[in-house]
Amino acid sequence: MKIKMILPALTEAKSPYWRPIKYSLFPPLGLATLAAYCSPDDEIDLQDEHVEELNISDSPDLVVIQVYITNAYRSYALADHYRKKGAYVCLGGLHVSSLPDEAEPHADSIFIGPGEDVFPQFLKDFRRKEPRKVYVNVKRDIGDIPPIRRDLIKRNRYLVPNSIVVSRGCPHHCDFCYKDAFFEGGKSFYTQQVEAALKEIDRLPGRHLYFLDDHLLGNYRFASALFEGMKGMNRVFQGASTIDAILRGDLIERAADAGLRSVFVGFETLSSSNLAQSNKKQNLGKNYEEAISRLHSLGIMINGSFVFGLDDDDKDVFKKTVNWGVNNGLTTSTYHILTPYPGTRLFQRMKDEQRILHYNWDLYDTRNVVFKTKGLSANELKRGYDWAYRSFYSWSNIWKASWQHDQFKHVIKHFSYAGGWKKFEPLWNFIIKTKGLNKMLPLLEVILSKVDESKNQSGRPSPFPAIA
Ligand code: SF4
Repeated sequence: MKIKMILPALTEAKSPYWRPIKYSLFPPLGLATLAAYCSPDDEIDLQDEHVEELNISDSPDLVVIQVYITNAYRSYALADHYRKKGAYVCLGGLHVSSLPDEAEPHADSIFIGPGEDVFPQFLKDFRRKEPRKVYVNVKRDIGDIPPIRRDLIKRNRYLVPNSIVVSRGCPHHCDFCYKDAFFEGGKSFYTQQVEAALKEIDRLPGRHLYFLDDHLLGNYRFASALFEGMKGMNRVFQGASTIDAILRGDLIERAADAGLRSVFVGFETLSSSNLAQSNKKQNLGKNYEEAISRLHSLGIMINGSFVFGLDDDDKDVFKKTVNWGVNNGLTTSTYHILTPYPGTRLFQRMKDEQRILHYNWDLYDTRNVVFKTKGLSANELKRGYDWAYRSFYSWSNIWKASWQHDQFKHVIKHFSYAGGWKKFEPLWNFIIKTKGLNKMLPLLEVILSKVDESKNQSGRPSPFPAIA
């Protein structure tokens, strides 16, 4: 059977104003995971429109499309195209799970929730010529998933080909997050077996890994066993955690010992009223600065994530947030305009309060204001958001944030990582065009490598970090 799997481009990824490198980071792991359930005789073509032109003149028997909110219209157009050609089309993903009624007219089958349980069942039904219209995942088990079909991934098109996910979901319930909508009707946080996760890591070449789990430190027992198993594997890795998990117990030290060198942290807001409104309990009353200094003492760089436009925000929020990030030595910051995604509690609340301005999903990209704001105007919110990015990534602020670290070696690492990521767009574009992104991996590995504290005991600044 000929199977086509497609990750259509997010609308913003095709905009001339946005950075191609941002959309060339991670391969479509979800589709490659589903591909593992197909038969070895199946001919699978996996295409990611972020990194290649789609070939839509082909004639597959089965088409599987992954739908996010800002690629929904593109997904539906592709689905309609392939159905006209006689292919059987399946749609799944976050947006389909949130709005199944919207997706259904464009598909022969839709998948609601995570695909691991429903896709093998669908394949059985499809081969028997008895597929159902709707498949809902309730089992929630990734204990025995087959190895991901990484052979279908065009590694040279991605900066981070070694991305990996060893859990699903997250133990928390923030109002603005898609997670609860996606996992409705069953468990919303579960992990792989540790052994299986270690084997998957072992199959990946090189040293660098990027864990795309929503919360890598979310299950103490699983995470500590994983980090124990990773010791001695000589890996460097990046992942995401919440503030409370960083502050609690010794898990973050175990992660650092296993090779954690950079962590994505959802600080979201500096206002406790905003945190309470968003049901972000895991951040409430936590000492952000204490978490930051703990991470810095372990040599872990921080990518802080922040949301603007929560009801307690006013015109000063942008300056306050940027200055706080710079003064606390965050290596990178990701800013978002609050976006009420369908299916979330935030969406329902905004709808009840008649604050949703429109339902043009293309603009639900966290860069546009799609709801009636409080405390600041929509215009102020948009302009403040744009300013925050410009300001945080100005050379002067990159330099200032770099100098927040005690060790000169960390200063250099910070400066190289933040400057390299944000300030060399033409170079990134050239590397993307020449399809050599994965050749940058050794450089990333060097920047993320552990600083050997024993090599510069004099305390005098040395021009380069000593890499272990
Ligand atoms: S902690 Fe993150 S992943 Fe978990 S519910 Fe909140 S926003 Fe979503």
